[in-house]
Parts: sequence; structure tokens; C-alpha cells
Amino acid sequence: MKSEICRTPDKEERSLLRQVLDKIANHCRARSLFILHYCTGCGAIELPPVITSRFDSERLGIQPMVTPRQADILLITGYLSIKTLKRVILTYEQMAAPKYVIGMGSCTINGGMYWQSYATIKRLLEYIPVDMYMAGCMPRPEAMQQGFLQLMDNIDNGNANCWKDYYYNYDEYLGHQQALFGPDWHTPTDVIAEARHYQLFGEKTIGDHTALLAKFASKYVTKTIPNHIVGVN
Ligand code: SF4
Repeated sequence: MKSEICRTPDKEERSLLRQVLDKIANHCRARSLFILHYCTGCGAIELPPVITSRFDSERLGIQPMVTPRQADILLITGYLSIKTLKRVILTYEQMAAPKYVIGMGSCTINGGMYWQSYATIKRLLEYIPVDMYMAGCMPRPEAMQQGFLQLMDNIDNGNANCWKDYYYNYDEYLGHQQALFGPDWHTPTDVIAEARHYQLFGEKTIGDHTALLAKFASKYVTKTIPNHIVGVN
């Protein structure tokens, strides 16, 4: 199953050698995944059976990790308050690419039973790219296991590329973040520089919202703000 929630181009220009190397890398990567489980909601309780002896996800090549920098999968296990979302975005940006996000439970899809709450968000994919949702309130451990297997397949087949969407469309993601946190919202991560590094700098990487980063730069340490965020290619 290919994700339908990312706008990353299906076909990128790659040499034959690069395609072969990517295929090998994806095959190996899919069998060695570390999960950073960000247990924000009720779903946290369904995860232990998956990673311990009951279902033993490690036999598949998936096990927990305690830091974002070594993690491949960011697992959001339920509703997210606005305050918590800030930490999730910071965590996501600290993870090294390629990285994958799984939204567990209805709350990450549409707000779930908290959809009327003033304190929680409704659609996780507006703020960070989501590779896969595990629907339910809460999905059972068997469903989680199935979801992990599906993600492994997607990675192996080269179809888990939502992380690229964050670079190609950073201005839009930042716009949603600013709408929630205020126009002076920023993180320590230089996402635009990373987009250039990965050669994923697109037409929508910068725009009106990234321009606000420069506008409010004087409020924080200006020497950390690179010149290119003012919109110069
Ligand atoms: S989806 Fe259901 S179980 Fe999960 S956090 Fe929301 S209310 Fe709780």
C-alpha cells in the first residue's frame, strides 16, 4: 500500500546505479527499524505487548529507541495537545532522514473524541508528514503489528517517502505551525538548509511563512539565522 497522504513526486531523476543502491539500502533499512514512541494518549498501553514477549516485534527487526537521533519511526500514540505538538515537531526535526511517522488512533486522524477540545489538534498531517495511520480507538496490538509490517513493505518497495514532503513543502507546514503557535514560532533546526543538503529544495520550500522566520529573527539569536531564510535562493 502506497501512502496517499504525501505529495512527494513518485519518480525522481536517478541514475541506474543510484536506483540499485537505493533498492539495496531500502531492503536493509526495512529490516532494522527503531521506534521512538511518543506516548501522548491512551494508545500507549497497547504498545508494550507488541514490543515485548507477547508479539515480540524485535524478531521482525523493529525495536524501541530512546532518542530521536537514533530513531527511524516516530510513533504518536493518540491525541496531541497544542503544547505537546511543539515537542513532537522538535523531536521530528531532530530525527535523521529517512524518517517515518505513524499516527495511532482516531485522535491523530481527525481529533477523535477530543475533536471539540480547544486544547488539542485534529489533523496531525498538517504539521508533520504522516506515513501511515493505524485507525481505531485504540487499535489492538495485532493491528499495530500489521501496520509495522505494512510500513516495512512500503520502505522496502521505496514507497515510504513522506519525509521528503516536509522539505518540498516546508512553507506550508510552517504556515500551519505558525497558525497554531503564533507568527514568531521557530525551532533550532535549519530545515531549509537540510532541504538543500538532501537536494529536496522545491518551489514551496520557502514562501510567505518562512519569510516570517527572518522577520522575527531579531527576537532570538540572529547569528544562528542563515541568510537564505529571507527567501534568497
Ligand atoms: S484514539 Fe481513542 S484511545 Fe487513542 S488517544 Fe484518542 S481517545 Fe484515546
